[in-house]
Amino acid sequence: MNVKQSEELYKEACEHIVGGVNSPSRSFQGVGGGAPIFMERGEGAYFYDVDGNRYIDYLGAYGPIITGHAHPHITEAIKRSAEDGTLYGTPTRFENQFSKMLKGAIPSLEKVRFVNSGTEAVMTTIRVARAYTGRNKIIKFAGCYHGHSDLVLVAAGSGPSTLGSPDSAGVTQNIAEEVITVPFNDPKAFETAINKWGDQIAAVLVEPIVGNFGIVEPAPGFLERVHSLTHEAGALIIYDEVITAFRFTYGGAQNLLNLTPDMTAMGKIIGGGLPIGAYGGKTKIMESVAPLGPAYSAGTMSGNPASMRAGIACLEVLKEEGTYERLDFLGNKLEEGLVELIQKYNIPATVNRLKGALTLYFTTQPVTNYEEAESSDGQLFASFFKKMLHQGINLAPSKYEAWFITTAHVEKDIDETLIAAEHAFRELAE
Ligand code: PLP
Repeated sequence: MNVKQSEELYKEACEHIVGGVNSPSRSFQGVGGGAPIFMERGEGAYFYDVDGNRYIDYLGAYGPIITGHAHPHITEAIKRSAEDGTLYGTPTRFENQFSKMLKGAIPSLEKVRFVNSGTEAVMTTIRVARAYTGRNKIIKFAGCYHGHSDLVLVAAGSGPSTLGSPDSAGVTQNIAEEVITVPFNDPKAFETAINKWGDQIAAVLVEPIVGNFGIVEPAPGFLERVHSLTHEAGALIIYDEVITAFRFTYGGAQNLLNLTPDMTAMGKIIGGGLPIGAYGGKTKIMESVAPLGPAYSAGTMSGNPASMRAGIACLEVLKEEGTYERLDFLGNKLEEGLVELIQKYNIPATVNRLKGALTLYFTTQPVTNYEEAESSDGQLFASFFKKMLHQGINLAPSKYEAWFITTAHVEKDIDETLIAAEHAFRELAE
């Protein structure tokens, strides 16, 4: 495959943009380096790069693009919004319409507030929880990513009863000491942390279905235990549904799990491909937010009409009958095909899937937490990734990311993907 233009553009990008990319996850550092592919155009399930190559896309822009690229209904909404003026700085009826749609889909959202990214949404829920409870510390789970605000760039300490340490230069030790990180799906470790810090905890922050060390579901009873211990300690539960909202059902993971958090952070899919974040929850908690309450939350771009209209259009598409059944059907076909090939070529790999999202780990053990996800062989993944890319299958360049199927994918795409996977596995097995 000729990727000359991508290579040239990457060289140029490195001269002007730090690291050549505007988000580190886009670099190919995690897959042995090289120039990332520069895409020119997306249409449905496909990408076309600057050298004219076509790819079947499973990156989905790291989650937001669930209806495929340039979905006509969303494109039309964005066009109309551009014609009407892109930004007002005043309220619009679209904010009302969209907040009602979100509330209708996710009943725990008694009140919402729009922001511009998942990072902002999570960051603000933590601030609101601190304002509401008058406490400072949070508990989060190892391997979950919650954006790039200081408080969530904190690594685990040496055990569930130890405080964290900075996971990025520039995050201070003082901030890290406000955060306790425990393993996902480990109720004992969570209990240990709550026993030690319970009366200082403002909130427990969790991806109810993990999307950031691959797709990992909570073990039966785990989240229920987290809920009861958190509430007994007088702390709030925040669900980070930035990946999961509208990914698996028309609503949040909380709808599927039948659990009700105190607050929820969202982003990605709800913007229909434009920048967005939103958070919401119980009215009495949300009333801590300015201008009603003392917790400040603001934004020049927040609730902008273009993102609102794209988000509304996206949810309209997702609401169509059979959407999630179709995603599940295609996800199942892809999973079954991959598992068959893994067995045929004796590849040390395992697949986690929920509906239209899956992760292929190069490990033979089941993956239920971050430590197990980490055991996935990075070199095997890197080699698989490059072999797939060169056959026109675009995956995320990280062993931890999910493959996202969109409503634009068809069975033929899955068949084509499995043919490419068979080539890749055959070469890996040699
Ligand atoms: N929370 C989760 C679960 C995420 O996966 C991400 C991004 O990948 C974020 C928060 C941050 O969202 P954003 O990149 O829009 O700031």
